[in-house]
Amino acid sequence: MFIKALSQQKIIEKPISIFVDKVNRREYLRFSKYELRYKIMKDGMYFLGSEGELKRTVKSTAEKRQILKDESLMYYEYDEQRITVENIAGTLLCDFLNTNFSDFADLKKFIDKYSLVILKEILKENGFDINLTMILTKTKYDNIIKEIATKYNDILESIKEAFIYDVDNCYNIYNDELKKDLTPYEIYVVEMFSNKYSKAIKLYDPTKIYLECDNDMTVYHIGFGSVKEKHIIETLNIEKSLIVPSPYIISSLDLKQILFIEFKELLCIEKFPIKKCRNCEKYFVPDKRTDELYCNNLFEDTGKTCKEIGFFKYNQRKLKEDDVARLYRNTYQQKLLRVVRNPENVAYRLQLELFKEAYKEVKEKMANGKMTKEEFKEWLLKMKK
Ligand SMILES: [Zn+2]
Repeated sequence: MFIKALSQQKIIEKPISIFVDKVNRREYLRFSKYELRYKIMKDGMYFLGSEGELKRTVKSTAEKRQILKDESLMYYEYDEQRITVENIAGTLLCDFLNTNFSDFADLKKFIDKYSLVILKEILKENGFDINLTMILTKTKYDNIIKEIATKYNDILESIKEAFIYDVDNCYNIYNDELKKDLTPYEIYVVEMFSNKYSKAIKLYDPTKIYLECDNDMTVYHIGFGSVKEKHIIETLNIEKSLIVPSPYIISSLDLKQILFIEFKELLCIEKFPIKKCRNCEKYFVPDKRTDELYCNNLFEDTGKTCKEIGFFKYNQRKLKEDDVARLYRNTYQQKLLRVVRNPENVAYRLQLELFKEAYKEVKEKMANGKMTKEEFKEWLLKMKK
């Protein structure tokens, strides 16, 4: 593919689309993507293509290696082709919840996977309008991510916090006795009608959502009526999974809406709740068994997944923390009971929330060895009052 790449204008923006297949627990996302491409001059023309295209075009291995090494030849290009990504239902939401938006590397991982396009609307609402038609050098691309991590991290973190609040409640992450016999959806309804109220729903804006029935999630990204019938039938006979039976897809420019829809769809898949990994404390959706305790992410620099080493690590830590966790739970239960018995008392509820928040920090300090057990006990005593 030889194109006069740098003079090409691209389509401005297209929405993010989602379809959740609840029976098979799959989610399909469609969005346009910024992709890493390689720019070279060849035969007097610019070449801007993917790594695969580069390998096909440049025959010599030495030349290829040189190009792949040279950062000045790497460009991020907004791809007008829309891609469909298939995952276990809940993957996007968990990825969002697990991203530290103030951390460049973490944010870059999220953006590399889902593209800058996915954050465009949220950033635009807050005064940062990214020009998607631009072909970006590697440095410019990184600079945009750096800018998001330093100036717009708070906005993204506050959206994340709203979803974490709802996920923690609805999936009863902290094992609240009161809710142990309710399904996630039932807890959501309780949240909706009680004074507790869902925080994620405040982000919901129906005017920003489109329902599309004249579209689907097939991997054919081509215009209607553009391929011969015989050709499509032949292709399908080989690869049935090319078609996703999606009666409708839901689209929005705004990631908040997509996350909210995904969250609500997930609440209806009762058997597979969102969990928090017992080792790394990241959110995940179990892939096979409902009673999985550990996620499939690589744990720190061990080269192993939490599932592989989680149990060992957990036991190691548990011996140290047991006492601490029990003390925390006692105080937590006391505060919770007070809230349950005095549902109108806003101060009690607030104190419980503050206590939970403060504990997260304290727990981290303990884990990093910045706080001793004695100091922890002192802190707990103070919090009891
Ligand atoms: Zn984990």
